[in-house]
Amino acid sequence: METIIKVAISGGWKPQYEKATELNSVIHFCEDGSILATGENGKFLEVYDKSKIVLDHLFWQALGKACGWKDLVCSFCGTEITRPASSLDDGWCRCDMKSTKAQNGWEYQALKFHEINLTESFEKAVEYLLTLIPKA
Ligand SMILES: [Zn+2]
Repeated sequence: METIIKVAISGGWKPQYEKATELNSVIHFCEDGSILATGENGKFLEVYDKSKIVLDHLFWQALGKACGWKDLVCSFCGTEITRPASSLDDGWCRCDMKSTKAQNGWEYQALKFHEINLTESFEKAVEYLLTLIPKA
């Protein structure tokens, strides 16, 4: 999760702290995927829980930006959709000609993440995300 959070930060994400907002906080990555923010003096400020991170749409947008996820994808298969916005109705992804819907790439991947989190485990969902991170 640390790798993923760092990529999201590189894409412009900032944790929205409740208490630590006005302070220069230092981020520490916890093994469970959460963030611990401390002041520069090392004083404890706030735990930023992993569940809060993965429910933040700004986190997903920043991650999508950093990973190059497409603006519009098929909601069934994730294939990029390149038609103009005026024709974004139904029926033009080859996976399902009759009921295809478009959505943002970050929404598609966030929903995939939550599906795996709910049906398998948080760790499996993180493993899935790691497969999407561009190799440096
Ligand atoms: Zn499709």
